[in-house]
Amino acid sequence: MPDPFYEPSALRVQSSEERRLLDRLMHALLPALCLGCGRPLPAAGAPLSLCAVCRAALVPIPREACASCLRPLAAHALPAGYRCGPCRQSPPAFDRLVALWSYRPPLDAVVRGLKFGRLDYLGRHLAVALAAGLAPGLAGCDQVVPVPLHWRRRLARGYNQAERIAHPLAGRLGLPCVQALARRRATPPQSLLGREERLANLRKAFRVPRPDRVRGLHILLVDDVATTGATLDAAAAALKKAGAAAVTALVAGRTPLEPIAGDRGQDPTE
Ligand SMILES: [Zn+2]
Ligand SMILES: [Zn+2]
Repeated sequence: MPDPFYEPSALRVQSSEERRLLDRLMHALLPALCLGCGRPLPAAGAPLSLCAVCRAALVPIPREACASCLRPLAAHALPAGYRCGPCRQSPPAFDRLVALWSYRPPLDAVVRGLKFGRLDYLGRHLAVALAAGLAPGLAGCDQVVPVPLHWRRRLARGYNQAERIAHPLAGRLGLPCVQALARRRATPPQSLLGREERLANLRKAFRVPRPDRVRGLHILLVDDVATTGATLDAAAAALKKAGAAAVTALVAGRTPLEPIAGDRGQDPTE
């Protein structure tokens, strides 16, 4: 007679740590597949878990782009710091935005794997690529700060994907990585709010518990992706309010913006 109270251990709710270990084990036993096209990867693995063909398909950020939003500008050989019309009109709180790629396939599959597929090692892969591609332009930064997740979301995911990128990136840049920002509360369902209310809401979501840890410093604020840029803007505003001297926002992927016809950009100091 079967024990009615018998509960197979496989049905237990697993902690995120257990799930991650299980994933690692599955990963070791099964041939890894390219996140972009699904073809088997070499046994030794591949950067970003992408095959060579998919890695070559990653779309770089256009060379001539707005310093604040990376919108392509209709000009050539622009000096650093040029901004598009909208960014001159309402500049974001961060001083500039840097990214390695446009957030298009196959990068979206890598970021989804990091965020929702529990493939936390992709954070390190992204950090390696970011350091290799962007390090010379980051020489003035003093300290790396990841964009925090609210603890509830962090608990559900098991980790903060921005931290998984920021930590190894800081190591490669020879900078300290400091969790200087805290999230006040889960961002409420925003779909019913207008744009202004959404921004106001988001601006209240970040705080700096120890302003002495950022005061006077040039912060490298790290997140996985910039979509509207509103999260980076809100986080940078909190850092500036706490006394940070400058904020460079860095992401792996930037949602591409359409160029504005004839916008050649302008020097923000003009
Ligand atoms: Zn592929
Ligand atoms: Zn812009």
